[in-house]
Amino acid sequence: MNIRNRLTLLFFVLVAVILLMASLLIYVFSADYREDEFYNRLQSKANNTAKLLIDVDEVDIDLLRKIEKDNPVSLPDERIIVYDFHNETLFSTDEDSTIHVDTDLLNRIRLEENVRYRQGEYEVLGFLFKGRYDRFVVVAAAIDIYGFNKLRNLRVILLIVFSISIIVVSVSGWVFAGNALKPISKVVRQVDEISITSLNLRVDEGNGKDEIAQLAHTFNSMLKRLETSFIIQKNFIANASHELRTPLTAITGQLEVALLNSRSNEDYEKTLRSVLDDIKNLNALSNRLLLLAQTSDGEKKGSVALLRIDELLWQTREELIKRDPAYHIRIDLDENLDDETKLTIEGDEQLIKTVLSNVMENGCKYSEDHTLEIQVNYADTWLCLIFKDHGIGIPEKDLENIFQPFYRAGNTQHIKGHGIGLSVVKGIVSLYNGTVDINSSVGQGTTLTICFPFRQNN
Ligand code: ADP
Repeated sequence: MNIRNRLTLLFFVLVAVILLMASLLIYVFSADYREDEFYNRLQSKANNTAKLLIDVDEVDIDLLRKIEKDNPVSLPDERIIVYDFHNETLFSTDEDSTIHVDTDLLNRIRLEENVRYRQGEYEVLGFLFKGRYDRFVVVAAAIDIYGFNKLRNLRVILLIVFSISIIVVSVSGWVFAGNALKPISKVVRQVDEISITSLNLRVDEGNGKDEIAQLAHTFNSMLKRLETSFIIQKNFIANASHELRTPLTAITGQLEVALLNSRSNEDYEKTLRSVLDDIKNLNALSNRLLLLAQTSDGEKKGSVALLRIDELLWQTREELIKRDPAYHIRIDLDENLDDETKLTIEGDEQLIKTVLSNVMENGCKYSEDHTLEIQVNYADTWLCLIFKDHGIGIPEKDLENIFQPFYRAGNTQHIKGHGIGLSVVKGIVSLYNGTVDINSSVGQGTTLTICFPFRQNN
């Protein structure tokens, strides 16, 4: 059952129960009131008759019968019987003995003084009438034709009101539920229209205040994140193929030129060396791409070992300087780092070395003096490595995207690079719950800080 039907049913049941209870109460109170009022009228009429008979000397039985016969204040089908203390009938308008009165009843009336009961359609009342010298039992009965008619009318009215109300409530409940759910149906319809090719579409957020608007807003935020990651992925593929194509085109070009004419061994060797360089570059690039793919989903953690960060720094420094002797790298350890456990982190040696080498190479590569200072600090629960250079810096507008794959700052056209290194760094450091921060200003230099969390079992 859908929500609209369920709401309508709930509404229907609630109102039906309330109406039913209200109708029942009205009916029961009315029936009660009718009965009380009728017995009171019957008693006062019978009392008057008994008074005339017993207390007024001038009125005898015959005269009273005459009076009673056409009495306009008599109740419908009224019967009055008066018994003396011998249980003998003193006076009776019940000529055909419709009302059955026996000695038990008379004794009960004498005992309880007032007895009410029903005999078929008749409502019968028995009470004790105290005369001047004696006590009499008066039994009066009548049919409350008007009262019952009124009650029947009330029943019909209540039934009609109940039925009409239920129909109105069902229809209005259905409309109301439909209206209340309209925004949700709208959201569902709009969401239905969004496909992978139309991730730029958004759901209408309506008044922006109610729960549906919040739902739409949350959904829109999710769409935005999806769209961004979809664009990043699309760009990633385009950028990756572009980066791979460039060296491949260079290799093809060089080989084609070499094959155009026959050449000297020296020329062939030169071409082969250049091609080898390009292939090495290509290899490094594809390795980085693979690493980026593996680290970006947070799954590859490599083998976890205890690593001395200072040793890794020195090793990486050596390797870099061997590759490019123009690089100057200074490593400065905080004097608080007297304890070697404070310099130990948990991680995969190759991955951590990749981080250090990417960052160290950047520092040297993007500075004219190819000089980088590294400070190792131990703060609170973090072991932080601060890489500081006085190079070209990164323009402010590029800083927020600098960790995106293939993103390169505008001022680096003349320096070789693919824009993957920093995203690999970020991916690997995040694997070990570390943080990467970058501060830079153009012409002044760049400071990149990497912090690894304190090892729990230190
Ligand atoms: P690559 O160096 O191969 O271009 P990276 O991902 O390592 O790729 O760096 C991305 C970009 O960040 C670089 O292109 C450069 O614009 C900027 N960058 C990174 N480190 C530095 C630095 N130390 N000084 C200036 N710019 C830097």
